[in-house]
Amino acid sequence: IQTKLPKVGTTIFTVMSQLAAEHQAVNLGQGFPDFDGPQALRDALAAAMNAGRNQYAPMTGIPALRQQIARKTQALYGHAVDADTDVTVTSGATEALFAAIAAVVRGGDEVIVLDPCYDSYEPAIELNGARAVHVPLNLAADFAVDWQRVRDAITPATRMIIVNTPHNPCGAVFSAADLDALAELTRDTGIFVLSDEVYEHIVFDGAAHQSVLRHPELAARSFVVSSFGKTYHCTGWKVGYCIAPPALSAEFRKVHQYLTFCTFSPAQWALADVLEHLPSHYLDLPAFYQAKRDRFRALLAGSKFRLLPVAGAYFQVVDYSALSDRGDIEFSQWLVREAGVAAIPVSAFYETPPRDARLIRFCFAKTDGVLEQAAERLQRL
Ligand code: PMP
Ligand code: GLN
Repeated sequence: IQTKLPKVGTTIFTVMSQLAAEHQAVNLGQGFPDFDGPQALRDALAAAMNAGRNQYAPMTGIPALRQQIARKTQALYGHAVDADTDVTVTSGATEALFAAIAAVVRGGDEVIVLDPCYDSYEPAIELNGARAVHVPLNLAADFAVDWQRVRDAITPATRMIIVNTPHNPCGAVFSAADLDALAELTRDTGIFVLSDEVYEHIVFDGAAHQSVLRHPELAARSFVVSSFGKTYHCTGWKVGYCIAPPALSAEFRKVHQYLTFCTFSPAQWALADVLEHLPSHYLDLPAFYQAKRDRFRALLAGSKFRLLPVAGAYFQVVDYSALSDRGDIEFSQWLVREAGVAAIPVSAFYETPPRDARLIRFCFAKTDGVLEQAAERLQRL
């Protein structure tokens, strides 16, 4: 058959997790916590199932969850969110990202993505007949966005710009000035913004998450995507959501209605319950992950790895050029085999990786013992 996605193979996350299992390595590759979310969440899930919440949810998500999402978003970002018209619950952020792209991107359009970027964006763009235009983040400036380069990439065919803050894999976060620059670039254009904010509750050093929802002008043309998998340590539940103004949500829901129709009901009841009764969970998350970041960085101090800054999300990018001049894919394979630690090569997130960059990503959403074991192995190199 003539493949529609010639560039797509098995994801690097699956490849590295398999390799880690084969070599019984410590898996700091694929991004997922090796611990569970709050006991109250798992109890609420069981309770929902036992209470007969096992049939289809409403297409847009159960009202109680949409209301909790609207309440939380309004409280945190000062943006009025209508639970009925602006919020749609999805099967993970991955579905929301796909549905937002499919809702507005047409054949022949261009979508600007900022490299390195998450691997699901480009296939979704291509399946909708459009083309991803890759603009690199500024590696020399801690992966800041070079807004002039973004501006230069805009053409009459540009339909959407996809941004991600806090950033996977780099750990960079937007400032308020970034939001202003994005608003300025897209003002009086037909360009939509797709803002991937799945790590919205994992921002460090007292900084505030700069959601595009804080910026009324941007909020008016944005799809904002988040994921409970990240916030509640339950990546396998695949529950996420999209917030967008009513007209955009209406188009988004046309896609969602026929992509999945609705999302796993018991999890929606459980998440509505903890959002209402245990808000401390997401309020405490920055400190929880900041302690992991600081522990992991301290454990790697004095090793041959150079640690890049991490302002948010749960990934530590390191430069290994003091250890090896191999490419990052080869180095990651070597690291699993020889050191027993799995990482993700950062070039996997690029269309054109920067020449001579020697970067790999470790996930530090792991129990302290696992971080210590990994660091001990990495210190030996
Ligand atoms: N976007 C980014 C930046 C991510 O890191 C992830 C998960 N790794 C997703 C989207 C997908 O989230 P979900 O698992 O909820 O589909
Ligand atoms: N988002 C996770 C990561 O960045 C992986 C998700 C997946 O395996 N598809 O590691």
